[in-house]
Amino acid sequence: MRLIELPPPTTTWSLLLHGGAGGRVEELAVAGDGPYADGLRAAWRAGAAVLSAGGSALDAVGASVEVLEDDPLFNAGRGAALTAAGTAELDACVMSGDGRAGAVAASRHARHPVAAARRVRDEGRAVLLVDPPVGAVERWGLERVDGSWFVTPARQQQLARVTRRELEPARHGTVGAVAVDASGHVAAATSTGGMVGQSEGRVGDSPIVGAGTYARDGVVAVSCTGEGEAFLQGLVAADIAARVRYLGADLATAVRDTVAAELAPRGASGGLVAVRPDGSGVVAHSSPAMYAAYADGGRLVTLT
Ligand code: ASP
Repeated sequence: MRLIELPPPTTTWSLLLHGGAGGRVEELAVAGDGPYADGLRAAWRAGAAVLSAGGSALDAVGASVEVLEDDPLFNAGRGAALTAAGTAELDACVMSGDGRAGAVAASRHARHPVAAARRVRDEGRAVLLVDPPVGAVERWGLERVDGSWFVTPARQQQLARVTRRELEPARHGTVGAVAVDASGHVAAATSTGGMVGQSEGRVGDSPIVGAGTYARDGVVAVSCTGEGEAFLQGLVAADIAARVRYLGADLATAVRDTVAAELAPRGASGGLVAVRPDGSGVVAHSSPAMYAAYADGGRLVTLT
């Protein structure tokens, strides 16, 4: 596993993003990693603008993830991985460190699934909504799109090749962000189309609190990516938080131990970004590669 430890930043806030574990999806063939790095930088800057203006970690992670949802190279929002039926069913979750979370699964109508998850959290009547209806998206004042908005020709070709068994179904490319704001509150957000060729109705770890996404003030915020079934059954994000909270483990040790205990025995790989309330963080992946963006010594770094 590759693990990058980031010291507390020079700013009063901190923001780390990922654009999925697994590395470049070759079949989406773009010229090198440059466009991925550009997308990650744009997303990081959107969140950083919120935080540097004194905004909340919760608003920042949402702002960053929305940018990646609009970028067709990443497996979230437009350009998400398609189900076996060729449709996009989108999962997203947000959680703030005060313990309030909102999530959507198999979302089809909101342009930004992460914004729908945020509305679920803010309303407080539910934590997870499956396939929120058009009426809910309109009531929330969110931009509504037709299902075809999410479907790109590149993803259709990818699905066709997976169906013909020319390609392994890729499980990677989810996006996520974690942040701590100037008040020391943490938040996490994750958004995905799931796995290429997944059954309709399959829900991965991303929208499940404690599996793919978790935040607790005073402890940590975590956003995961990778083989969702393992993250779900290993409750990976919550397990990392529990090691920090109850064992007093440092973040890097907690991440290593959770990966060793919950992912490796399941033969699964993936990655995550995590941040502590002091702004220190970890970028880790057991997959061959991972997309990420973070600041190191005041410099914006992208990992591709
Ligand atoms: N974890 C996601 C899922 O299983 C996939 C990913 O990270 O790309 O739905």
